Amino acid sequence: MPKILVTGGNGYIGSHTVVELLNNGYEVVVVDNLCNSKPYVKDRIADLADRPFGFYQIDICNLNDLKDVFHKESDISGIIHFAAHLFVEESVENPIKYYQNNIVGLLNLIEATKLLPKVDVVFSSSCTVYGNPDEVPISESESIKPAMSPYGNTKKMAEEILRDHSMANANFRTTALRYFNPIGAHHSGKLGEDPLGHHTHLVPIIAEVASGKREKLMVFGNDYPTRDGTCVRDYIHVCDLANAHVKALEYMLGNDQISGFDAINIGSGNGQTVLEVVQAFERATGQRINYELAPRRPGDVDRIYANITKATRLLGWKPELDIDDMMVSTYNWEKNK
Ligand code: UDP
Repeated sequence: MPKILVTGGNGYIGSHTVVELLNNGYEVVVVDNLCNSKPYVKDRIADLADRPFGFYQIDICNLNDLKDVFHKESDISGIIHFAAHLFVEESVENPIKYYQNNIVGLLNLIEATKLLPKVDVVFSSSCTVYGNPDEVPISESESIKPAMSPYGNTKKMAEEILRDHSMANANFRTTALRYFNPIGAHHSGKLGEDPLGHHTHLVPIIAEVASGKREKLMVFGNDYPTRDGTCVRDYIHVCDLANAHVKALEYMLGNDQISGFDAINIGSGNGQTVLEVVQAFERATGQRINYELAPRRPGDVDRIYANITKATRLLGWKPELDIDDMMVSTYNWEKNK
């Protein structure tokens, strides 16, 4: 089976994807500098998949270290590139940290691939590239708006860099997966979102309130032009998202006809308000959530959710897990981690 390099494979989405790759028979090599993940994760991945994989604790911003990995693993056929800083607020406060890491890391990765005869890349992109969309559901052909944060801008720039490089080099093809809001945890309860700092995303925060670690949820804004005044997002289970990466690799590795760059939305195709997510959590887990209405959070778009017909058409992918699975698995993870 092909060997796949996964950058950031110890992180939240990366770890679920590595399990999915190993379960599908791929050989996997992870590079990760553990800047936002914990060392236990790689052991859990190996336990869950019951198969070993390569692991290099390096920083992709160090080109020599990265090239050493490519020299040792010269039979890499595919790359899934997750490694990036991902906190919107931090990126506003310290933009250069984000450009330095996310853009230099990507340029180094492209440079290192020159050691390979041919490679297919799946890039971890985001619906943040759409900015505040005029129409929803949003499809890939919609125009890309100015990014709302330096973090969002690094995703937009990275897509442009990958597009230009893929167009200029027949031996380098890219599929960018534009994720909507990944949540949930592995059904085993052994993997889930576990950042080094505190949680900033809605659903893990709700789970912390339910488990008593946090007093209440602050609902940011109830005066948006939506059903109940709170923001609408498209929540997708991390295991469905992991599976989309495997499907994207299969699509490229098995198809000589495709070339260049393409971008594909990965979401559920449905929009949910913040208050609907709170209700879904309460319904699925039986736990009441204490919340308080608070001012808008700067940078939030009113509403965004995906048109996912392209993912189904090209990759044969569609989400299998529903909002209840997302809530229950997040809560189990929160209680057991
Ligand atoms: N949100 C909230 N309270 C929180 C965290 C998030 O009301 O403590 C809202 C946020 O304003 C947005 C939605 O929940 O409307 C999803 O936010 P999240 O940070 O999970 O993802 P984002 O869409 O910003 O990537």
